[in-house]
Amino acid sequence: MPGPQTRRVLLPTPLPGPDAVEWVRTHLGDLCRDTPVASPAFRGGQRAADTALATLDLTGYAARRNEVLPRSRRGATRLSPYIRHGLIDLPTAWTGAAGAPSRDRSKFRDELAWQEYARHLYARVGRRNATALRAAPARPATGWDEPWPPAMNCVSTCVDELETDGWLVNQTRMWLSSQWTVRAGAEWRRGEDRFFTHLLDGSRAANRLGWQWTVGAGTGKPYGFSRWQVRKRAPQLCRDCALSTACPIEDWPPDVPGAGRPDPEPLLRHDPDPESTGGPRTPTYDGEHGDPEAVWLTAESLGDTDPALDAHPDLPAVFVFDEPLLLRLQLSGKRLVFLAETLADLATRRDVEVRRGEVAGELRGRAVAVTHAPVPGFRARAAAVGPTVVHPWRWLYRPHAGPIGSYSAWRKGIRAR
Ligand SMILES: Cc1cc2nc3c(=O)[nH]c(=O)nc-3n(C[C@H](O)[C@H](O)[C@H](O)COP(=O)(O)OP(=O)(O)OC[C@H]3O[C@@H](n4cnc5c(N)ncnc54)[C@H](O)[C@@H]3O)c2cc1C
Repeated sequence: MPGPQTRRVLLPTPLPGPDAVEWVRTHLGDLCRDTPVASPAFRGGQRAADTALATLDLTGYAARRNEVLPRSRRGATRLSPYIRHGLIDLPTAWTGAAGAPSRDRSKFRDELAWQEYARHLYARVGRRNATALRAAPARPATGWDEPWPPAMNCVSTCVDELETDGWLVNQTRMWLSSQWTVRAGAEWRRGEDRFFTHLLDGSRAANRLGWQWTVGAGTGKPYGFSRWQVRKRAPQLCRDCALSTACPIEDWPPDVPGAGRPDPEPLLRHDPDPESTGGPRTPTYDGEHGDPEAVWLTAESLGDTDPALDAHPDLPAVFVFDEPLLLRLQLSGKRLVFLAETLADLATRRDVEVRRGEVAGELRGRAVAVTHAPVPGFRARAAAVGPTVVHPWRWLYRPHAGPIGSYSAWRKGIRAR
């Protein structure tokens, strides 16, 4: 029997609308940890991303970004799933804020810069971004049966939103990650995986940075979670909580001694090859295989303005659901529904071929154009596929060679140029 590594599977192209759910159930259901459903909060696709950007109103963003409940008070933009998959690239989001009040504009752009920082870090140190900054605090777990106790309304409500919508505001990501690590002493990487399973914007770049920031990476100071934040940002969660008179997070957590840095990662101080980290500046042809016959799309860059799609408007696009990877990850089906909706939407404007299997095997013998993606998985797959032409990634800032051990060190390097 041929294994999943050797099968080549061409799937029917998904159709826009609710059919995407059925399509995922039929063709990818065995790769998901749950029965695939759509997130009730987000639709995938360029059209949905364009609508989100066109209706972006940043007035009051700086003051309300951290609000949690009621939902009507939230100031977060909810652009992250579209930014994650390149339906809105960072330069476009940056420009989209041009008309906003100055305080809101600069706060929003600062957050975009955090996304860029996470990407630079991942592009430079690769999967060592899970250990390069700082290990989890070394402390024994005391008195917590579970890192996210279901009886705590502030915790269970947020876990429910994570698992149902596949999204959380930044504030509750900080609560959950702090409860998991700083309070309960559980290992951050398991918590990060719980987030990654469900988040529509889940990326190893930003998610790992977020979890490590919570345990004190880059700042040396872990983020403490207590009832104070819940009362301030979502008071009804406290009012309705069964533990309201016996709140286990009434006080601030005791000071947690950081575990200290692991062996210093030399790449955090200096990048000997920033050109390679940033990828090509102009389209790079391999010179052997003639003209491309298709555009290979990756999950990093699924937007209409993907540089490879843009440069080859008449070529079909091909996307491969990476079977070995998805089997290992066991993501929630709503993440794959978001991708299927995105491909279905793209297919209303150009030919889209959807495959499932091992990426290089699925693309064997094809001359493809692709956009460089600043993630280690792309490097490995591109080496096996051997694209005919690689187009540059659309950075907000080109990666520099200087220190990136903290956000402020990284920003200094950006400003210095
Ligand atoms: C523990 C933890 C895990 C996280 N995991 C992810 C993740 O997997 N993917 C992800 O994109 N973000 C992650 N973040 C960052 C941030 O919480 C989300 O980007 C933000 O909540 C998305 O909502 P929004 O689009 O409304 O953000 P807004 O506040 O409207 O910000 C606009 C955009 O800026 C970027 N951004 C904002 N804050 C951050 C940040 N702290 N780090 C990186 N980018 C940021 C996002 O692209 C976001 O869409 C995580 C944060 C924490 C604390």
